[in-house]
Amino acid sequence: MLLFTPGPTPVSQNVRNAMSDETMHHRTPEFEAIFEKTRKHLFNLFKTDEVVVIASSGTGAMESAVINLCKNTLLSVNSGKFGERFGKIATAHGLKNVEIKNEWNTPVSVEAIVNALKENTNIDAIAIQISESAGGLRHPVEEIAKAVKAINPKIMIIADGITAVGVEAIDVTNIDVLIAGSQKALMLPPGLSILGLSNAAIETIGSGKGYYLNLSTEIKKQRQNTTAWTAATTLTIGLLEVLKSIEADGGIEKLYADTAVRANAVQSALKAIGLHVYPQTPAKSMTTIDDENAAEIRALLKTDFDVNVAGGQDHLKGKIFRINQMGLISHYEMAWVVNAVELSLAKLGRRPYDGTANKIFNEITFGIGK
Ligand SMILES: *Cc1c(COP(=O)(O)O)cnc(C)c1O
Repeated sequence: MLLFTPGPTPVSQNVRNAMSDETMHHRTPEFEAIFEKTRKHLFNLFKTDEVVVIASSGTGAMESAVINLCKNTLLSVNSGKFGERFGKIATAHGLKNVEIKNEWNTPVSVEAIVNALKENTNIDAIAIQISESAGGLRHPVEEIAKAVKAINPKIMIIADGITAVGVEAIDVTNIDVLIAGSQKALMLPPGLSILGLSNAAIETIGSGKGYYLNLSTEIKKQRQNTTAWTAATTLTIGLLEVLKSIEADGGIEKLYADTAVRANAVQSALKAIGLHVYPQTPAKSMTTIDDENAAEIRALLKTDFDVNVAGGQDHLKGKIFRINQMGLISHYEMAWVVNAVELSLAKLGRRPYDGTANKIFNEITFGIGK
């Protein structure tokens, strides 16, 4: 079965091998050397002033960013489940939350953010997804961050890049926190989250908030190539292997370029067989299709064609399906996925099979035929 859900993503053989050794003690020079190398790679990936690795799923990093950077009122953007989560985190910690809510296919506008800031001068942090995985939507985070900093540079910009870091180049000039998670674009099992931090964020963090998720404690330790609490040693070893694989495969810029071509090829292939792309501004991490037969297509993909794609949640349950494009994906696997979608449409009697999806995918991917 091909795993093509936008998280978890498949873990490649070399990474699984790297993680199969005996468990290493975390307070040893050996592990510190691994951690130091991993940090170097992460700085290259995040391009932020500092990076911090936490043993938690992505939500742990979201919570840690909110509690350490927001002292009064959070402005959160809810165009899907993950944006909604930021608001829930804020209120769980007794912070005020102002929410801008849109349908899951609709990106927030810069104007809406600017207006919210004008209406509520207590807002001291903004939390937003770069790629909102609930609908595969790209928010204009860099433009928003720039506009916000022009109004008040003290407002902290928390960007959830869990399905964006490792997918596309992100301009971090005006971003204070950039969050990644292991089981999405980083092609690892779940359990690690990573925060890239600006110097301004570090200043705002001060002595930090919380205990396990106190970023000040972690920054101090991680600058010495160790962690405040027991490190997720095995996953860290896996992370280093992934980051080395990306480098061996031509580097992060090549991965971004490949992912962009793949995103275009998948979208074009599926549009060519009459399908509709759900988000108004699609993220490169996944292609989301809304369709009256979404549930049937997804079931056929699994039972007849050995492809596992994600469905929708909440009000989009049974109405969309989401195909992953993140990571080091082989062309032949991706080509099979779009081909399998076309075969499913034929099985449903929607359109006769003629190989259009596969043809368009290959023409774009390999730059031939046109
Ligand atoms: C997966 C995901 C998360 C975090 O989820 P966890 O299950 O806690 O790892 C957060 N934001 C986005 C955009 C995601 O895709």
